[in-house]
Amino acid sequence: MSGATNAAFPERAPRPAQPLIPVYRPDLSGNERAYVLNCIDSTWISSLGAYIGKFEAAIAAVTGAKHATAVSNGTVALHLPLHCMDIGPGDEVIVPAFTYIASVNTIAQTGATPVFCESLPGDWLMDPADVERRITPRTKAIMPVHLYGGACDMPAILEIARRHGLKVLEDAAEALGTTLNGQHVGTFGDAGTFSFFGNKTVTTGEGGMVVTNDDDFAARLRQTKGQGQSLTRRYWHEILGFNYRMTNICAAIGLAQTERLPAILAAKKRLAAFYRTHLANLPVTFQTAMPGVESADWLVSLLLPSGTDRERVMADMQARGVETRPVFYPAHHMPMYQSAEHFPVAEDIAARGISLPSFPALSDDELGRVCEALTAALMDQGKA
Ligand SMILES: *Cc1c(COP(=O)(O)O)cnc(C)c1O
Repeated sequence: MSGATNAAFPERAPRPAQPLIPVYRPDLSGNERAYVLNCIDSTWISSLGAYIGKFEAAIAAVTGAKHATAVSNGTVALHLPLHCMDIGPGDEVIVPAFTYIASVNTIAQTGATPVFCESLPGDWLMDPADVERRITPRTKAIMPVHLYGGACDMPAILEIARRHGLKVLEDAAEALGTTLNGQHVGTFGDAGTFSFFGNKTVTTGEGGMVVTNDDDFAARLRQTKGQGQSLTRRYWHEILGFNYRMTNICAAIGLAQTERLPAILAAKKRLAAFYRTHLANLPVTFQTAMPGVESADWLVSLLLPSGTDRERVMADMQARGVETRPVFYPAHHMPMYQSAEHFPVAEDIAARGISLPSFPALSDDELGRVCEALTAALMDQGKA
């Protein structure tokens, strides 16, 4: 690429010969349209309507949780149970430094202090031994985050939580369809949450879900998400609440998506296997699940070799028609959570990780183009 530009011929990245392969594109080819039209035709477009209960029941069935309550996004899905666990100022919640910012922000939104912990080098998830080191008399809860379709070491985390009398809230936003020893993530702790943002495994546009097996806690979640209104007496608000409700339109989309979840998961399993096979000879390191984990492969993610210029790899791949995305920056590098402390594993993953296109409709031809683009980009840097 030449550095010279002028007004008439602004410098552009070389035009890809074929259309850009995005990292994600939802597949809305099932009953989504019919169910949404049903909402409009029936005028049930707000947060009452039959699809809410049906979608909640569908997610409860998929996860095996006793209760599921729909909310407006995956972020409030975290804030709601934290609030209902009475977590607030003076309390500490342990959360990985390497996570999406919503995990950390929702802790701060309660007034509690997020306490960062280290990640494991293999699966990139919460390091239970480091969690234990960070427990203080103020610790109230642990928030494991099942990133990229992985599953945290829940037996170890639950054992620590029980010994110290701590709550466990699982952020399973990226892990719908993931199981550990046959049990769905999000159902190990006191509560678990899912996100249905546009690039998540099941989408409702914006949406979220909280699951729990505790009857009293489920009732508290339900009341709190609806302005604290009594579940039996209208306009009687007996506890502080929020409006975190999902609309019937979103639930209609979510129900149609969940009907096709097995097909979506099968497609993702296939594309993850394709990448692992066709990139096996590159010096890249895939996120590696611990034994017993059946990953839903939300975004197939890998570490580039040390010393690679990640920005250049991503720009090279983009020029070859393939979109990628960097993994998350560690939370302790963000201005509002800035800390001098080091989390070497989390920082290394954050610096070298990228996610590949991982949407269910990817064809073999497209998957092949992604592999070729990554190979070529690494060869450009003498890394392949
Ligand atoms: C997507 C996501 C969330 C938040 O979900 P939204 O629906 O975007 O609010 C929370 N945690 C993790 C790990 C996520 O990936």
